[in-house]
Amino acid sequence: MKNRDKEKIVVSHLKDQAWIEDKKQGNLRWKYIADSTQLMSHGLSCGVLVLPPGEELPLHHHSPQEVYIIRQGEGLLLSSLSSKKVCKDSFVYIPKNVDHGLRNTGDEDLEILWIFPTDCWEEVEYIFQKK
Ligand code: MN
Repeated sequence: MKNRDKEKIVVSHLKDQAWIEDKKQGNLRWKYIADSTQLMSHGLSCGVLVLPPGEELPLHHHSPQEVYIIRQGEGLLLSSLSSKKVCKDSFVYIPKNVDHGLRNTGDEDLEILWIFPTDCWEEVEYIFQKK
């Protein structure tokens, strides 16, 4: 795409992005940071997700791999094998199509940065495990 030649460096701040909520997703809220639906960007996308205390992003998988960086709070990285504790500055690499989830086990918000090798979050098809 020729427009990609015109991409520019973008510097922004988390506080300048609006929170997004969807009651179907419980009490989770998130912000897009780099996302082709908002920026002239491609190939990488990221955003911030907040899980209030007790909330969970259920086990799911998707075809792109993903990285989580924990910004604050305490939680459990859920997988079909074993769950692992995560806290501020924990990093998680999730391979393609591997089930994973996240649960806030602390008493403050659990805030993570996610990164996908996609143009935007919308193009990631989430497949949730049946309960
Ligand atoms: Mn995921």
